[in-house]
Amino acid sequence: MVPALYRVRRTRRETYDTFTFELDPPDGSRGFAFAPGQFNMLYAFGVGEVPISISGSPERPKSLIHTVRNVGAVSRALSQAKPGEVVGVRGPFGAGWPVAEAVGGDVVIVAGGLGLSLAWNLPAGPAVVVAAAVLFALAAGLSAVRASA
Ligand SMILES: Cc1cc2nc3c(=O)[nH]c(=O)nc-3n(C[C@H](O)[C@H](O)[C@H](O)COP(=O)(O)OP(=O)(O)OC[C@H]3O[C@@H](n4cnc5c(N)ncnc54)[C@H](O)[C@@H]3O)c2cc1C
Repeated sequence: MVPALYRVRRTRRETYDTFTFELDPPDGSRGFAFAPGQFNMLYAFGVGEVPISISGSPERPKSLIHTVRNVGAVSRALSQAKPGEVVGVRGPFGAGWPVAEAVGGDVVIVAGGLGLSLAWNLPAGPAVVVAAAVLFALAAGLSAVRASA
């Protein structure tokens, strides 16, 4: 599978080492369908390619969202990509979560660190959103403490 050329629409810093960026599909393309829990291979040209989970909504495939922690060469290059720049995308890969089976049932999602960003793309009720927000605040706080230590 050849990488499709996606353009960075916007980026947002989440913590000192973690950022979220939104990608637009190539001109005229509708993007591709994906399920919660799947990941893409993101390619920073001239540097390399890494697996990154999709944290956007499957209901909005034209807007591909990824949250990345800057830990090495490729994630650093991705973190420096500016709006308008192009990154390669291959995907989606991996088995999606069986969301349809959970419809009508009680759902508890336990996630930590970057895994939390995936919880946002589930069709969630208020209780799930509150739990996720608390966990996110904890994760961000811990990162800040680590950075200042
Ligand atoms: C299915 C899947 C989904 C993922 N989803 C996400 C996601 O949503 N967001 C996200 O941020 N990450 C995600 N990851 C993890 C991400 O792919 C890795 O962090 C990736 O390796 C980053 O590549 P890099 O080139 O930036 O860092 P790398 O250079 O690969 O470094 C990765 C780690 O290895 C260490 N390292 C590198 N070289 C050395 C060395 N010579 N000696 C000792 N240690 C070294 C680095 O310090 C760092 O901790 C996912 C991984 C998988 C498998």
